[in-house]
Amino acid sequence: MTDIIHLLPDNIANQIAAGEVIQRPGSAVKELLENAVDAGADEIKLIINDAGKALVQVIDNGKGMSETDARLSFERHATSKIKNIDDLFRIKTMGFRGEALASIAAVAQVELKTKRAEDASGTYIEIENSKVKMQEPIAFNKGTSIAMKNLFFNVPARRNFLKSNTAELKHIVDEFIRVAMAFPEIFFSLQSNGQEVFHLEKGNLKQRILQILGNNYNAKLVNVNEQTDYLNITGFVGKPEAAKKTRGDQYLFVNNRFIKSAYLNHAIMNAFSDMIPKDSFPMYALFIDLDPAQLDINVHPTKQEIKFEDDKIVYAFVQATVKHALAQFSITPTLDFELDASIQQLDSINKPMTDEQRSNTANASSLFKTFSQKNQAHLAERSGDLKHWKDFYESPSTTTANPSVEKLHKEYEADQPLMQLHNSYVVMQKQNGFLVIHQQNSHERILYEKYTHAVAGKPIATQQSLFPTTIELSMTDAIELQELLPDMKELGYQIEHFGQQTFVIQGTPADVDAGNEKMVIEKMLEEYKHFSSDVKFSKREKLIRSMASQHAIKAGVSLSQKEMQQLTSDLFSCEVANTSPNGKPTYMSFYKEEMDKLFGR
Ligand code: ADP
Ligand code: MG
Repeated sequence: MTDIIHLLPDNIANQIAAGEVIQRPGSAVKELLENAVDAGADEIKLIINDAGKALVQVIDNGKGMSETDARLSFERHATSKIKNIDDLFRIKTMGFRGEALASIAAVAQVELKTKRAEDASGTYIEIENSKVKMQEPIAFNKGTSIAMKNLFFNVPARRNFLKSNTAELKHIVDEFIRVAMAFPEIFFSLQSNGQEVFHLEKGNLKQRILQILGNNYNAKLVNVNEQTDYLNITGFVGKPEAAKKTRGDQYLFVNNRFIKSAYLNHAIMNAFSDMIPKDSFPMYALFIDLDPAQLDINVHPTKQEIKFEDDKIVYAFVQATVKHALAQFSITPTLDFELDASIQQLDSINKPMTDEQRSNTANASSLFKTFSQKNQAHLAERSGDLKHWKDFYESPSTTTANPSVEKLHKEYEADQPLMQLHNSYVVMQKQNGFLVIHQQNSHERILYEKYTHAVAGKPIATQQSLFPTTIELSMTDAIELQELLPDMKELGYQIEHFGQQTFVIQGTPADVDAGNEKMVIEKMLEEYKHFSSDVKFSKREKLIRSMASQHAIKAGVSLSQKEMQQLTSDLFSCEVANTSPNGKPTYMSFYKEEMDKLFGR
């Protein structure tokens, strides 16, 4: 037997590593623009040909590089931006991993021209497949030009993975905008196949937003500006009337770095809730600035995902700040910010705050207090409640989606005493026989329809937990749950992500008994996973189904007369009363005539 392990040649190792940083022309655009920003340029030009597949070139007037630095810049882990691991938490630059140029040089043909102000001549380097082809002094202005040609020329498989020019161009423009938006004090231009697509003069943020997103937003931008000891939030949000049907004009930056965060996006969307239709998206360009020590940027190779030391606080601030801004511009009635008398009476307001809430409130700005008080006033209506059985019965003219149900209603007495058998079945007499109702299947149906209405815009009221419970989940469950949180909120669960695998249940649906919410959520996740192979259901549908089955009264539970009345009345108000969500019957009909026959009558 011979040994089989060998070291990969540098250029192949680099090609493999490059896959993390450079997936498409747009990734190179991002990296090169960020380098130009880091170099202190105030003029940055981007030139592309053939959607970046043939050429991506960035020319800047920044500080340039010495001859040695120019050569070194293409080495992997070569950076001027950090020296040790602690520097990672003091980052003020866009780059720091020292991988971009090495990656680009591994998968394309690169030409670098650079010169520092203090040097007499500049440096020209040609590099391809990680190998220097040529290096010589040149005459050049102060600054740097890096041209990346024929991306993936040496990795045909990856070149084949590139999308159409339209799609790749869209990525490029997205990346260009994300950098240009964050630095309005820098001139940017973008030229594509010889045509100037963007020409962004230096200006302030508002001007930059209008240059990029269009003058339509003029007079529709609300200034956001909140400065605290912990963080600052500045920027603009679009007035509610400017919200669009497609997500798109939404930009969130942390320390000037564009980031993707479903969590914070949710905070912003929440601040807009009730002001815009459910399916529309407000514009925002918000900048969060905080001490880099409060952040971990190094959790993702392209740095578009970051971790906050305390993301809960950031969430709270973002949401409160945006609400505040919208209110100040009297877009939302100020009433929204004072707790009116009827709200003050609510349990959730009267209940003592948790220690954590208390300590947060104590040392935070008045804005934060507004937030935390407001947050306790969970006022969402219990609109999921269905028509009362009696009303329904007494007005047979009421239209119903299910004519056979309407017929059923007419056939028996609304207030007749009901009987429970085996703590599982409810027996109900009707004119020509009787019904045997399966309590669990029926309740699943009732909850399923209630939850469906809830996520369609009629949220279920939340009751704040007196003692918020913490749950610790496996990594996969944590990821799963995190994705479900916005929908769960509509279902009355207020759950917050509290570090990687920990969640805190702050509130539960008003009609769920406090105390076993932890178990309910764990079981719900368990059940949710069982649906996972079922591709025909959306995530939301799976959630609703799992929640309905978790919250349904189980067989074996004894019901009072009142509960049985409620159950039957709710069941027959359902749109589809005769089956559970997964198709099991909710009730069976027995006809007197047939019973008589059985008994020989
Ligand atoms: P990083 O940006 O993470 O440091 P890069 O591979 O992008 O890594 O760049 C390596 C180094 O090359 C940078 O740290 C910087 O010193 C230098 N460099 C890259 N681009 C430029 C530029 N446009 N102007 C001046 N220096 C640059
Ligand atoms: Mg860089």
